[in-house]
Amino acid sequence: MRKILIFDTTLRDGLKSPGTILSIDEKVRLAKQLARLQVDVLEIGFPAASQEQFEAAERIAKEVQGPILAVLARATNPRDFEIAWKAVRDQPLSRIHTFVPASREYRDHFLKKTATETIELAASAVQQAKQYTADVEFTLMDAFRANPQRVVELVAAAAAAGAATINLADTVGYATPFDVTKLFTHLRNQVGQFEQVGFSVHCHNDLGLAVANSLAAIAAGASQVHCTVNGIGERAGNAPLEELVSALSVHADQFGVQLGIRLNQTYPTSRLVRHLTGINLRPHKPVVGENAFTHEVVVPQLSDTEEKPPYETLQPEKLGIQLGGDTLTAQTSFEEFAKHLGELGYEFEEPQLQELYKDFKAFTEKKENVFDADLELLITSQIAPGVLRYRLHYLSVTAGSISVPNAAVQLEVDGKIQQDSGFGRGPVDAAFRTIFKMTGRNPKLTQYEVAAASPGSDAQGEVNLRLEENGVVVNGRAVDSDIVMASAKALVDGLNRLDRLRGEPVISEFTDEDSWMPIL
Ligand code: MN
Repeated sequence: MRKILIFDTTLRDGLKSPGTILSIDEKVRLAKQLARLQVDVLEIGFPAASQEQFEAAERIAKEVQGPILAVLARATNPRDFEIAWKAVRDQPLSRIHTFVPASREYRDHFLKKTATETIELAASAVQQAKQYTADVEFTLMDAFRANPQRVVELVAAAAAAGAATINLADTVGYATPFDVTKLFTHLRNQVGQFEQVGFSVHCHNDLGLAVANSLAAIAAGASQVHCTVNGIGERAGNAPLEELVSALSVHADQFGVQLGIRLNQTYPTSRLVRHLTGINLRPHKPVVGENAFTHEVVVPQLSDTEEKPPYETLQPEKLGIQLGGDTLTAQTSFEEFAKHLGELGYEFEEPQLQELYKDFKAFTEKKENVFDADLELLITSQIAPGVLRYRLHYLSVTAGSISVPNAAVQLEVDGKIQQDSGFGRGPVDAAFRTIFKMTGRNPKLTQYEVAAASPGSDAQGEVNLRLEENGVVVNGRAVDSDIVMASAKALVDGLNRLDRLRGEPVISEFTDEDSWMPIL
């Protein structure tokens, strides 16, 4: 059995999804969960891009153990390597990931260099990275639209320079499984060092083929796949981790492969990413969608039997999915509660655990069955969110068929408590208008969704919204048993995220004339 390495790039490529602005604390939290899932390689960002990315990488390197931590550096910028390495140098397992464009389109657009110059650049990039670590990954951007001979030359140059891993990126989501097989076969025949290098693939889902292409690469000899949780990423996203690991575990024998992933952490990780990014999943999304394991009873006779339904090839329990039964209730003891939080991946000190247990008990008075989703929400409201510019203290709305909807709001802005009220077309509109008035901000609300956070009519309302201000897009998210309250909290969350993004300083020594941004 060959071992297939799962290279998770949720924290780098995944966060290019529109509106996904995570704080450093949130990134650390996600990194810890990905380590618990036991991804083999964890790409933690592009430290030279900004002070914020540098600090996030540095903190993850200090606090997260287990996976190899990969940091990105541009081939043309020696400072990138230095800054990237500085962020992770204390971690014994660190990898530098560097890249050049392979296709003519990308070369002309980003580098303005000839094919020969690009090959020299590939070799020098690998050599630069090797000054810091032996674990160097080299990516060919847009490899599947490139001239296959150029791909061979780039791969050979990077391999000769000592790249341990060579990754072929389908940057624009263009390839089909047939193209992937063809290119890998070509490389195997043409590159002398093929067997000495670990090959990898990075697929985008523009044609819905990211998983199929990744599997084709594995069948053709790749030993590593790039992916993101829930498939988040720019445009149609990256190859979804949960779909890849599910396909590979259902068909492990056929592929002759094994994974180091803890499958039962797949679903908790998916939920955390959903929660942190505010990106909801379509109900029929494979593996982690709400309906993925809901069966209509197609053969009525089977509905009475005790046996497993014959149409399930993948058991939801193996992925850590809770199908109703296993919920916490008012009878749950402190020990059971603490154990369950541990299984969900939360680590708390005893006093904080006691606090949470108190909140949980109070919550069970409002809601009989407490699902993992409810618990996550309860916990998140307890985790110190760092410095927030706006905090909602109080909201009261009147609405109905007789009165004109109006809202009274108490809001903390920069530490000062303010109070105001206003009218609107409905209770949510009244609350939003009042908050906009008080903050002096008026972003465009481009998306607004209300959903139940867990099953049952006593479920909490979960609001996801998207704000746009001066070309900056953020997602805001909140939960409350009152959907108007959830809406107002989600708006305040979005405003705080907009604010955080506006204040992000860029490392000054980094901004040079040659500052093309990585797109791979
Ligand atoms: Mn990408």
